[in-house]
Amino acid sequence: MTMPYMPASGLLAGLNRRWARFAARAPMRVDLDHAIVTFTFDDFPKSAATFGAAALEERGWNGTYYASAAFAGGETHHGRMFDAGDIIALEARGHEIGCHTYGHIDAAQVRTSELMADIARNARALAAMGLESDLENFAFAYGEATPAAKHALIERFATLRGVQADINRGTADRALLKSVPIDGGESGIARAVEAASTLAAHPGWLIYYTHDIQAEPTPWGCTPEQFEHVCRAVEASGARVMTMAAATCALEADT
Ligand SMILES: [Zn+2]
Repeated sequence: MTMPYMPASGLLAGLNRRWARFAARAPMRVDLDHAIVTFTFDDFPKSAATFGAAALEERGWNGTYYASAAFAGGETHHGRMFDAGDIIALEARGHEIGCHTYGHIDAAQVRTSELMADIARNARALAAMGLESDLENFAFAYGEATPAAKHALIERFATLRGVQADINRGTADRALLKSVPIDGGESGIARAVEAASTLAAHPGWLIYYTHDIQAEPTPWGCTPEQFEHVCRAVEASGARVMTMAAATCALEADT
């Protein structure tokens, strides 16, 4: 098994990451009386399609699965990855399939033309697997974005999601939406639960993301019990839970 890729670190990468947050913004008003929560799964492992979907469906909820088709049918450090059957079954049950590039590309490391070609390849590959709807929403692999990539992709997708851990409130950036991880062991899970607990007093759009959901998760995943714990916190918050596509429609209707 190969080691997981790590995006660039260091001063320059940090400055570029900050710059990408402030540049090429696509403002979106998130003024809600009643919070919205979206569960998203990246890459995505089969365990997210099985356990993750079951935990959501038990509550009448749906999630968004950001697929990288190069992983389909394979195995990564997250375990067994999704296949065509998962794409078809998830879509049939009301979940959304989103785009995460074909080859899980770090957008900060390639030309925009290369990124766009890879995204088109992902759409073709997922359609060949049986996906019927269009890919409407995108998540940056590793959360790595550039102003040029944001600018190009927001013309193609309704939203782009990053990994800056926060709740979207007030004027959000739909070209780099914030999202809170459900990972990082007990302290990470406590942070995810805490985020949900703020929603009643301060409504916003809380987007969660995770990867594998298994007994011995990677640092980017969680256990089934931890995922349940977060679901219970969201239930207690009274927030509406919906996919990225449904949340985007609800936000447009509200404002
Ligand atoms: Zn990813």
